[in-house]
Amino acid sequence: SLQETEENGFKGHSMLAPFTAGWQSTDLHPLVIERSEGSYVYDINGKKYIDALAGLWCTALGGNEPRLVKAATDQLNKLPFYHSFWNRTTKPSLDLANEILSMFTARQMGKVFFTNSGSEANDSQVKLVWYYNNALGRPNKKKFIARSKSYHGSTLIAASLSGLPALHQKFDLPAPFVLHTDCPHYWRFHLPDETEEEFSTRLANNLENLILKEGPDTIAAFIAEPVMGAGGVILPPKTYFEKIQAVLKKYDILLIADEVITAFGRLGTMFGCDMYNIKPDLVSIAKALSSAYMPIGAILVSPEITDVIYSQSNKLGSFAHGFTYSGHPVSCAVALETLKIYNERNIIEHVNKIAPRFQEGIKAFSGSPIVGEIRGQGLILGTEFVNNKSPNDLFPSDWGVGSIFGAECEKRGMLIRVAGDSIMLSPPLIMTPEEVEEIIRKFGHALKATEERIAE
Ligand code: PLP
Repeated sequence: SLQETEENGFKGHSMLAPFTAGWQSTDLHPLVIERSEGSYVYDINGKKYIDALAGLWCTALGGNEPRLVKAATDQLNKLPFYHSFWNRTTKPSLDLANEILSMFTARQMGKVFFTNSGSEANDSQVKLVWYYNNALGRPNKKKFIARSKSYHGSTLIAASLSGLPALHQKFDLPAPFVLHTDCPHYWRFHLPDETEEEFSTRLANNLENLILKEGPDTIAAFIAEPVMGAGGVILPPKTYFEKIQAVLKKYDILLIADEVITAFGRLGTMFGCDMYNIKPDLVSIAKALSSAYMPIGAILVSPEITDVIYSQSNKLGSFAHGFTYSGHPVSCAVALETLKIYNERNIIEHVNKIAPRFQEGIKAFSGSPIVGEIRGQGLILGTEFVNNKSPNDLFPSDWGVGSIFGAECEKRGMLIRVAGDSIMLSPPLIMTPEEVEEIIRKFGHALKATEERIAE
């Protein structure tokens, strides 16, 4: 049982492999979460945890926000479902699309297409881009370039786009039309004496060389998270997006911003594109769109792309793609209320008020002998454990340093994300200053305990 695990020195609940999800079996000793309250969740034994990952980077408004519960119930009572095929729709779906378009100001966007998840959003992006290029009479412009260590989801195409080997191995992925270029992690991959700007130039040159090698006429789009999430919270180095966008423009390659984690305030701006001056042609969103109270994702499509599709058929109906639950009215009603709350409560202002202490408080542990780098922006943060402070001196994987740290956090009532020796925090955006202090304190204690366990 859970208690026995704790009495045995608490190794933490089995998390299986980093991406294993969906399987349910009591003999795996899962941590069973029963209820939530603000920034906290409680397990079935009544133990309280500060949810320093906001569920899975998503419950931006924390637990039991009554307005979201009411929005869902009201909509369930009024119209639990109608579809959005053949130019039918529902009021919440239409209103939500308009609201999203008005909130995204990095550049003008034309239309919104709803999905149920981030993976479906990225899958839909690929089909949309192919449809667009076919409509323009260039059917060979089909390949996608993504980056090593990126995460774009786990359906066949989204997993192909992702740059994490575990998502490819034994699945015959990535699909042949997907190519991967450099991960922009300066600390890990820069050459001796190379500045951040020089590193960005080298990566942009590598991208250009890859495009030239493959043939620019064969490359349809480049997909990137403004800040890489599951790959370890990797921030773009200085001038990175500026240089990458120049290359894409030169070869008429579309840019897809995967904002599934970064949209709606996570970085301290409404979208990650605002933070890094990214002007995408397409954007994927999900997670905080509804604060995860209901499953929903979406893609934002530039007017240049929708114009081509419209001119083909005079209506989007000929783009034969959609899901039964696209624009589900209950999900849309909840998402609309979520966006209303972000605006009314000035969520961006709040994030920018608490983020400096969150970042500085955790980064103060950078001197620990087992910490390689602590990096972050706004309310997202990643830490990498290495030996001798060196990116190239990894701990033996069977030591499970990241997992030890995760278990030490869990023991102290804090839930985080562990992937190998990389750990990640992405707490609810509504956190109070006291909750920020609690995370910093628990992080420090868990780090000390991890250092001691490694030294044993
Ligand atoms: N894209 C990014 C950047 C993500 O972080 C995720 C999930 O974590 C996805 C896509 C996939 O979203 P979903 O799990 O909703 O399919």
